[in-house]
Amino acid sequence: MSCFPNLFSRKARIQEDVSILPPAYSSLEHAPSVQLSREKSNKQVFFGRIVHSKSLKDLEIFNKAALGVDESGAIHFLDDKVGSAAEACKKYSGFEQAACTTLKPLQFLFPGMIDTHMHAPQWPNMAIGMEGNLKEWVENYTDPLEASYKDNDKARRVYDEMVQKELENGSTTVAYNSSPHYQATNILADMCLKYGQRAIIGKLCIDRNATHGNVEVSTTQSLEDEEKAVAHIRKIDPEAKLLSPCIQPRSLGFDSPELVAGLGKMCYPKTQSSPIHVQAHMCETIADFKQAQKVHPGFENYSEIYDHYGMLHEKTILAHCIYLSDRDIDLLVARKSGVAHNGNSNTCLTDGECRVRELLNRGVKVGLGTDCSAGYGISILDSMRSASNVSRHLVIHKGDPSLKLSFEEIVFLGTMGGAQVCDMQDKIGNFEPGKQFDALVVDVGLKDNINISGWEHDDLALVKKWVFMGDDRSIRLVYVNGKLVAGKDR
Ligand SMILES: [Zn+2]
Repeated sequence: MSCFPNLFSRKARIQEDVSILPPAYSSLEHAPSVQLSREKSNKQVFFGRIVHSKSLKDLEIFNKAALGVDESGAIHFLDDKVGSAAEACKKYSGFEQAACTTLKPLQFLFPGMIDTHMHAPQWPNMAIGMEGNLKEWVENYTDPLEASYKDNDKARRVYDEMVQKELENGSTTVAYNSSPHYQATNILADMCLKYGQRAIIGKLCIDRNATHGNVEVSTTQSLEDEEKAVAHIRKIDPEAKLLSPCIQPRSLGFDSPELVAGLGKMCYPKTQSSPIHVQAHMCETIADFKQAQKVHPGFENYSEIYDHYGMLHEKTILAHCIYLSDRDIDLLVARKSGVAHNGNSNTCLTDGECRVRELLNRGVKVGLGTDCSAGYGISILDSMRSASNVSRHLVIHKGDPSLKLSFEEIVFLGTMGGAQVCDMQDKIGNFEPGKQFDALVVDVGLKDNINISGWEHDDLALVKKWVFMGDDRSIRLVYVNGKLVAGKDR
């Protein structure tokens, strides 16, 4: 990790006066606000503190750097050798008239966060239903709520609010699970496009074992409706600038062999060189695994069932993955499939603890998910904290300190790790030139619950304060594809 001292141009003073009062922030509090001149051109330059993950261990923090975004929303340069936005505009040809944003002294640019597992229809159930285990929660809360999305007006009302809240909380990309209704799924896709959120969306497929009518009328209907949802997403965003369709079995205890076989075929359209995304659940609890084996007899390992039907590939996102066998882990590595780790949800439903350290060591892609509403926090900041806490509980239980996830690692999982799990590592996740500008302007100098006092010795401390204490109040601007889409200062 490289961080730059002289954080507030007063590190020396902090060190000298460490036994007395912290330095005052008066000069910073009265510093100029973010300066915007958007009317100048479609190119943009940001100047100030910039934070992003280069690898699991390397959180790069520039105290001052310039970042240029071109008309297409792609990052053109990231340069820490210039002293101002104006200097960057002069240095880079074509950026002379760029709209410049200079960050305040206690602001920083952070990559848009990536939620690799979220159930859109469960939004109204947030924070409700944690009394029981997974089965009780699904049957008492999830099934009746998801079934109610046959009402398109309800879908419109809920998704309109939810997508905006997600963006305000800094989730610029979300892999959404939907309900077993293609119309409601199409409405979810419409909302993501309307509000400018990057999303992976599919219709949930269930043809057995669900309660409260949260099941499709037939296997054939389930397959036909999934095709309709995929076709709708391709139609409204043909260049996939924001939306990617996905195939979405709920989990193998809820999907018959015929259904999974049909979905597996759907993963590989003849017109495309790469497969369609898949989102599904795997090895959340022991009972969940046993139910999958009951529906799909003859398989020893959970992943082998998905693999048998061609559903494990580089665009497959598997939620939870707590009770994996060695064979499961080997298959995930071989197929380049990713894991969505949902620490909050796994704790709330007392599912268990995902062995993230082992997965990372063995080369499995891991990102973070909120798994709302089994998890009660919609922010990936909450998912980072939960991932940190779950790993610390593993240390307590196993007595192995190496299982603890570092700060650099949890930030990576919530950004670059998520990009890898979504197979979008070349497009988003950090600020490498060539990637799309999905970003947040974060302010830790507000009068909210983040207590920046002046004792902080480096830039890293500011980022830690935000990750562990921050919320949507500190997220001032949210960009997707270079376009301002949300934020308190929008
Ligand atoms: Zn889930």
